[in-house]
Amino acid sequence: MLIFLGPPGAGKGTQARTVSEELGIPHISTGDILREASRKGTSLGKAARARMDVGELVPDDVMCGIVEERLNEPDVRDGAILDGFPRTLSQAQFLDRLLEQSGREPALLVNLHLEPQLVIKRLTGRRVCPKCGEIYNSFWHPPREEGVCDKDGARLFQRGDDNEEAIRKRLVAYERETMPLIDYYRHKNAVQDVDGEGDPAAITKRLLDFLKKRA
Ligand code: AMP
Repeated sequence: MLIFLGPPGAGKGTQARTVSEELGIPHISTGDILREASRKGTSLGKAARARMDVGELVPDDVMCGIVEERLNEPDVRDGAILDGFPRTLSQAQFLDRLLEQSGREPALLVNLHLEPQLVIKRLTGRRVCPKCGEIYNSFWHPPREEGVCDKDGARLFQRGDDNEEAIRKRLVAYERETMPLIDYYRHKNAVQDVDGEGDPAAITKRLLDFLKKRA
C-alpha cells in the first residue's frame, strides 16, 4: 500500500494518477470520493462539503469508514495508492491496524515535498476536468484551449477550496495534523522523500525509479 503525502498542491493527485496507471494498481483519492458524494448530494457529501469549502478536515471516523469500505473491494487486493489518506495520526493508526488484520504489507509513505510559497501559486492556477479527472495548471500545464480539457473537451472547473483563504487553512491543517505522520512512518523506516518541485514527468520518473528499487 502506498500513501502519497504532501502539502496541498504538492502534486499528490497528479502523481498518483500516473503512477497508478504505470503500476496497474488503483488510485484512491479520499478528496475525490468526498467531492463525488457532494455532487450526488448525499448526506455525507453535504456534511463533508461544508468542511471542505473552508479548508477544514472531515472527522476521522467518517474518513476511516470510507477507506475501510473501499479497501475491502477486490481490486485493492494487490495494493493501491492512497491519495489524501491518512491525514491524521489516528487515521494512520487505523490504517496500520486494517492492513495488519487483513494480512497485508505495511504501508510505504511517499513524502512529496513542496515549499509553502509555491503552494498558493499552484493551487490558484489549478483546473480539473470533471469527466476524466485530468489536472491542469494555468501556469505550468495549461490546456490547449483555455477552460477546455484536451482529452475529452469537457469544461474545466476550479475546486471550491482552491481560493486563498481556504488554502491557508488547508496549509495550517497540513502542518498541524498531517506533518506528524512523516515522523510516525519514519520511525517505521517506511518513508520515501521526493522533491515535488519541477516538471511533473521528471518527478514521476524519479518516483517510479524509487518504487521499483524498493519493490
Ligand atoms: P484533497 O482532494 O486531498 O485535497 O482533499 C480535499 C478536502 O477533503 C480536504 O481539505 C479535507 O477537507 C477533505 N479530506 C480529504 N481527505 C481527508 C482525510 N483523510 N481526512 C480528513 N479530511 C479529508
